Amino acid sequence: MRTDTHCPYCALQCGMTLVEAAGPDGAGAGRSGPRLTVQPRDFPTNAGGLCQKGWTAAELLDTPDRLRTPLMRAGKGAPLLPVSWTAALDRVAAELVRIQRAHGRDAVAVFGGGGLTNEKAYLLGKFARVALRTATVDYNGRFCMSSAAAAGLRAFGVDRGLPFPLPDLAGADAVLLAGGNPAETMPPLIRHLVRLRERGGLLLVADPRRTATARLADLHLQLTPGTDLALANGLLHLAIREGYVDTGYVAARTTGWPRVRAAVAGYWPERVERITGVPTPVLRRAAELLGTARRGYVLTGRGAEQHAKGTDTATAFVNLALALGLPGRVGSGYGCLTGQGNGQGGREHGQKADQLPGYRRIDDPAARAHLAAVWGVPAEDLPGPGPSAYELLDSLGTEDGPRALLVFGSNPAVSAPRSVTVRTRLSEVDFLVVADFVRSETCEYADVVLPTAQWAEEDGTMTNLEGRVIRRRRAVPPPAGVRTDLAILSALAARLGHVRGFPAVPEEVFAELRRASAGGVADYSGFDYRRLAAADEAFWPCPAPRPGSDEPGRPTPRMFLDRFGTPDGRARLVPVRHRPVAEDLCELYPVYLTTGRVLAHYQSGAQTRRIPALAAAVPGPYVEMHPQLAASLRVADGEPMRVTSRRGSITAPARLTDSIRLDTVFVPFHFPGVNDLTNPALDPISRMPEFKVCAVRVEPARRPAAGQAACGGGAAGDR
Ligand code: SF4
Repeated sequence: MRTDTHCPYCALQCGMTLVEAAGPDGAGAGRSGPRLTVQPRDFPTNAGGLCQKGWTAAELLDTPDRLRTPLMRAGKGAPLLPVSWTAALDRVAAELVRIQRAHGRDAVAVFGGGGLTNEKAYLLGKFARVALRTATVDYNGRFCMSSAAAAGLRAFGVDRGLPFPLPDLAGADAVLLAGGNPAETMPPLIRHLVRLRERGGLLLVADPRRTATARLADLHLQLTPGTDLALANGLLHLAIREGYVDTGYVAARTTGWPRVRAAVAGYWPERVERITGVPTPVLRRAAELLGTARRGYVLTGRGAEQHAKGTDTATAFVNLALALGLPGRVGSGYGCLTGQGNGQGGREHGQKADQLPGYRRIDDPAARAHLAAVWGVPAEDLPGPGPSAYELLDSLGTEDGPRALLVFGSNPAVSAPRSVTVRTRLSEVDFLVVADFVRSETCEYADVVLPTAQWAEEDGTMTNLEGRVIRRRRAVPPPAGVRTDLAILSALAARLGHVRGFPAVPEEVFAELRRASAGGVADYSGFDYRRLAAADEAFWPCPAPRPGSDEPGRPTPRMFLDRFGTPDGRARLVPVRHRPVAEDLCELYPVYLTTGRVLAHYQSGAQTRRIPALAAAVPGPYVEMHPQLAASLRVADGEPMRVTSRRGSITAPARLTDSIRLDTVFVPFHFPGVNDLTNPALDPISRMPEFKVCAVRVEPARRPAAGQAACGGGAAGDR
């Protein structure tokens, strides 16, 4: 038996085939079905390749500590013990009703995930807005690419990570990638960049570290963490000065150029060198390579976006791309590399605090009326926008904050910024429910844990980094005692009085999602399961040809070729200015910390840390640092180091490399404790935390910890 499906991890959503292993052995400890192996499959994003995570993905189904029965505590401090589904669901429903009666509807919060299928994201959002009628719902995708999404909406009126198919990159003359390391985070993507270079195209990478991707590049701009905005403005300044601006395109397809031109006048190369640390000749060369490319792309990743000024930083790169006439042209463009598996679809269908399905704004009366009609409820009953992810988590259990939290597909005890505080909040909330397939760190704070099915045990759809909608197929049944997220939501909704409107069958949910998205920015009404099974080219928007028709619609692989998604069809150039990081260096915290992903792990590591080969490859965090910084601290490679920020401290071995800046250390974030260090300062528009840079002290663990005396900057950014 062979099942064509996709990898459960990142947004590349590599094609793979699951094959039942021959022999009578059956599955491992986690399941009763057949054991599966992975074969790579030719798909446009991965071209037959997989990374180590994809190759080992089937092992997750058989992980020995797989949850197989609901768990419940008799009270705070009591152990989690197995109970029946009836007992668990009855308790959850009763507590939600009790808490909402006592404290109001918004006292129950819902927290979703960017790995949930479109169907789950949709039904979770509907569950929050219709069954619970709470405004307090958001998801961990807020921590992923909300800044690029906000910049895309601001400039283009539409947010689709890549508004073009990924293989288009190979046809370019130059690609600038700011703050992304796909050679480690999504290795098969590199095949497209290798083809680019084989054709004579050039790759430019901006990153504080000489990463595996930067080593492939023709030009590496090794900037100071948190200065990407100044870099982009500096490149635009040079593009203007050297005559690379496509004035015809700017006049015909954009608005706002005079103000942006004026805003970047102050970013002359020598000043940008002082801010970014990138030498003036390198800046000039980068502007020339990009400015003279006939076909070019500007791409951003989390390194440029996960900042308290992430929206403005992404906007600065959008401005650069627009000035060069790239977006909306075949063979050129701007895009961002989405991280989570369904980071794109997850924010389109209603689990985000400010959005309704179809990428509609929740404060738009027409959008509310449309969804109210689809859901069969009065529009005035739909709640308004709620708090963003970090604000939601940080308010749990406080006087005005939520008293109960339902978590689906997320592990915020590890992945949230200043996670030491978030763990305290999780322990203080009156009632916590976690639906997951393993006992994650967040489960340890739960009053009720609900065991869920995994990716290969259920059907659904995902939307990858290109806005391509793909079918995830069930290859094996879930273990006995385990339910799907949809079945859990359906059962809870029924207990809350909604016996209709919450189907547990993915195809039924998708049929409703199509109607809910019809006419929206992310219009899926032209898709259906049959069509998605037959075609790889299912890019949204794809409206149905006639209202209510079941005919297939026309997908949109390349967006903006005729007009942008703004009211006047023109892209909006928005002036943005560099500002310092939320927490700059000082005497007590004299080194920048930046965090990121490594090849062997994914997100909070709840999944990949359970795969033996991946755990063996990178068993824990490490502190990547320059040998000169190590020498100044008198430490050797492998020596335990203590890294301390204003929020917390971790100990991990030093890993010496001259590929990182002298003033910066890097720690992979897949492990508990690392995000205790990071800064929750939020972007004012996207509410993205400043994950990518904070000030730390680095010292050998053998020495006693230095005191926490105040120094300039205080708790800057803590808000
Ligand atoms: Fe899976 Fe991403 Fe690796 Fe592809 S690149 S195999 S989608 S983790």
